[in-house]
Amino acid sequence: MIEFKAITKQYADDTALQAVNLRVNSRELFVLVGPSGSGKTTLLKTVNRLVVPTSGQVLIDGESVADQDLQQLRRHVGYVLQSSALFPNMTVMQNAAVQLEALGWDKAQIKPRIEHLLQLVDLDPKLYAQRKPAQLSGGEAQRVGIVRALAADPKLMLMDEPFSALDPVAKRQLQNLILRLHQKLATTIIFVTHDMQEALRLADRMAVLHNGRLQQVGTPQAVLAAP
Ligand code: ADP
Ligand code: ADP
Repeated sequence: MIEFKAITKQYADDTALQAVNLRVNSRELFVLVGPSGSGKTTLLKTVNRLVVPTSGQVLIDGESVADQDLQQLRRHVGYVLQSSALFPNMTVMQNAAVQLEALGWDKAQIKPRIEHLLQLVDLDPKLYAQRKPAQLSGGEAQRVGIVRALAADPKLMLMDEPFSALDPVAKRQLQNLILRLHQKLATTIIFVTHDMQEALRLADRMAVLHNGRLQQVGTPQAVLAAP
């Protein structure tokens, strides 16, 4: 379980978050939704310490992220961004394996692990493992980004507008994929989007942010039913 306790983030002349309290349950697909500038990314990044709150703390299973070894923390927290930032000179296999290489896995273990994950995201390893990023569509590149994030079997995935740059067809396919993966892998996912339709479609529960404050928290039905 992830707990955000009274998270405030103050930038020079801008309060990005104001005393945000929130709980995300284990295995939940939890969506943070709100307009641009509402504080979604800032809140998400407090989890893997890309942002340090001005006050308040984030707990994962009761332990403050501030007390954890940064490498350990990020090893257990997968991270997927809008632009998948694959290395252009590396193959799909090499890109997907970056995390495992860093963890010291040996080649004989890495290859089957990545092939298995490529299959899970509907990329046939025979066709895709040796491609370079330039030979991938936007949706395919995001699938590789998801494989890279999943490689070390994280208990928590942070996803920041992962599908916002995709065309509507690819977006729909990737939304279905993430629902399927979430079912299958039983990981906790915190998913950021400015797209209310996407939020309603994906969320087990969701939080609506506005000007750095939580406006609503609940299931999509509850959020829709609120006045
Ligand atoms: P969202 O993800 O909802 O678009 P952000 O969390 O990116 O919102 O930003 C929230 C607010 O904090 C915005 O007003 C933004 O300009 C500001 N902000 C975000 N990052 C920084 C930063 N590194 N320095 C200064 N202000 C920032
Ligand atoms: P940049 O300024 O290059 O965008 P950041 O300072 O945001 O980079 O982050 C540093 C690097 O750490 C980035 O490449 C980012 O993708 C990576 N990173 C951040 N969080 C995680 C995580 N939880 N797991 C793995 N890598 C991460």
